Amino acid sequence: MRRRASLTATFAVVSLVAMAALGIVLTLVVSELLQQQALDQAVRTATAYADSGVRDRVTEREWQAEQLDGRSVDRLAVNLHTDSTLVEVRLWGKSGKTMYDSVDLAHPFPDLDRLNDALAGRPSAALVTQLDPKAGTGTGVDPAMMAGLEKVLDVYVPVYPIPDVPIAYGVAEVALDYSATEAATASAVRTVAVVIGVGLMVVWLLLFRTVHGASRRLRTTSDENARLALLDPLTGLPNRRLLAERLELAAAEAQLHGSHVGLLLLDVDRFKEINDSLGHDRGDQLLVQVAERLRAITRDTDTVARLGGDEFAILLKTVRGVDDATAFADRVLGVFAEPYDVDGLVLHVETSLGLALLPDHAGDVQTLMKRADVAMYVAKAGRRGMSVYEADGDANSPARLILLGDLRRALDDRDQLTVHYQPKLDLRTGEIVGLEALLRWTHPVRGSVPPGEFIPLAEQTGLVHLLTRRVLEMVLEQIRAWRVDGWEIQVAVNLSALNLAEPDLDKRIAELLAHYDVPARLLEFEITESAIVADPERAAATLSRIAAMGSTIALDDFGIGNTSISQLRDLPIDTLKIDRSFILDMSNGNEVLVKVVTELAHEFEMVAVAEGVEEHDVAERLRALGCDLAQGFLYARPVPASDLPAILATYGTDPRDVRAGV
Ligand code: C2E
Ligand code: MG
Ligand code: MG
Repeated sequence: MRRRASLTATFAVVSLVAMAALGIVLTLVVSELLQQQALDQAVRTATAYADSGVRDRVTEREWQAEQLDGRSVDRLAVNLHTDSTLVEVRLWGKSGKTMYDSVDLAHPFPDLDRLNDALAGRPSAALVTQLDPKAGTGTGVDPAMMAGLEKVLDVYVPVYPIPDVPIAYGVAEVALDYSATEAATASAVRTVAVVIGVGLMVVWLLLFRTVHGASRRLRTTSDENARLALLDPLTGLPNRRLLAERLELAAAEAQLHGSHVGLLLLDVDRFKEINDSLGHDRGDQLLVQVAERLRAITRDTDTVARLGGDEFAILLKTVRGVDDATAFADRVLGVFAEPYDVDGLVLHVETSLGLALLPDHAGDVQTLMKRADVAMYVAKAGRRGMSVYEADGDANSPARLILLGDLRRALDDRDQLTVHYQPKLDLRTGEIVGLEALLRWTHPVRGSVPPGEFIPLAEQTGLVHLLTRRVLEMVLEQIRAWRVDGWEIQVAVNLSALNLAEPDLDKRIAELLAHYDVPARLLEFEITESAIVADPERAAATLSRIAAMGSTIALDDFGIGNTSISQLRDLPIDTLKIDRSFILDMSNGNEVLVKVVTELAHEFEMVAVAEGVEEHDVAERLRALGCDLAQGFLYARPVPASDLPAILATYGTDPRDVRAGV
């Protein structure tokens, strides 16, 4: 900063010196010009005098003889009085002989060069000093005036017999009083110097102001940039970098004083949804409000930081221990208890908060960050609101974290996530009447990850919203392609409990259907009993709206949950999918449950589907029990869409020809 200030000062000094030099040079040039002008003027004056005052008063004969007679001398003397600036006049003949001298000094021999120049038609003027006043007894000039003269303009001009004919008779030397010219020149030079000085000063001031301003702006911008590099632009909170710096400082201090440092990490639950459904502007507003509330409950010595997205961190510089930090974390949770008002919309927002302490849970700042992160994910997974890091509490947290991160990335990768289709057959006709879409994840390192592993993880972290959307998009695109080929079949898509909690799930489905130009009847939605149990009223409302659009609803894995029969009646369910465990029981001769469920389904005018049919005998008995549809490895495993034609060829033609499948 100091260096830049001295830069301005250096500029000021250097430019000032340069300006002063420029001013002096300009003034000198101007005074030189003025003097030159004065000399030119003197030549003109002298020439005029020679033309009018000398030529007519000296006869040709006198010039030839280079000798004046008395009358001519008188006439010249009289003439001399008419011009007060004339100091002295001398005349020379062509040979250089002095013919006349108005002052009659004992003058030196004329300057021969100048005399010859003048005879050749080149008049010259020069400034001479001090004509000797003591000798001043001349005929035409006041001796007092002579005494006052210091500088005289001494001019040599040729005298021509006929005007404009360049053959000179002789030369007139005319000495002119310089004092008036000098005064005029000096005053002109002074004026010019002042004008130049003031002008340059103004220019300099303007320049200096510009440079100074630019330098100040530069400084402010660079200061601002330095500041911004450490602050989050949206909330103005410290960013990850500044937090890391402060953490290091706090850790060093804590070590010195034997105190504890607390680190809280939190993120806004379902922020992505809020952002997607309400728009990024509102999402931003929410984040700003969260930031404000967090700052309001935090001490000045502590740091609230935004790490990016909806993730915040609070650094507690000194805490007494876990209890203190937990108490503070409770206050943070309180911040989220009050609803937020975003553009008049009342938003209830929750958070998951992880807490870790130094040195209790970590030995250094990096580990502390990771531990708080794990604690946060544990809080999120357990829907606990807050969690303090426990070393052996969740041993596979890091692995889960990694898997979760991988799943997030998989969403951006077209190749990792695909849909497989498993046919559902009509047990009476043996025809394929529908497909179930089952998500497949091919992890770049681990290979195929079972849905039973990654779907619960996605459900715990809210990522399932994106997953469901992706599945729907892929399925609808496939249905559209089949329709182009002239084939229509209904595809069942699995929904999670979290999907049912989405307030505008039906609207989003409708949008997607419209986008892919697929009729709603070609989609079925499979939900589990647990999805309904979580919030039956809301689930019923959402399902009714979906059913109203024309899609059908299937209750998946039925029999192992605890749906009450009255609930079943009130929900818009078209199909009951009998859980695989019941079908498995059948191979042990235990078929009463399947029988009961099938009858229940028919009682409510629902279709009964048997899941996980692997054996031919079981299929036969299911048909005998009146079960409508069956799905299982007996017919086909879930396969990519490209493998379906082969399977269809097996089952599509002869309805009764139900053979063991692929
Ligand atoms: P689900 O909806 O009950 O799907 C049926 C599961 O049973 C599938 O397992 C399927 O491969 C398997 N299956 C089908 N026939 C047989 C059989 O004859 N024998 C045996 N042992 N298994 C059979 P998968 O594909 O591993 O999926 C497991 C679960 O993951 C699904 O159970 C479903 O709850 C969930 N899931 C799969 N894809 C999605 C999805 O896109 N979204 C959601 N929310 N959940 C999905
Ligand atoms: Mg299913
Ligand atoms: Mg199932």
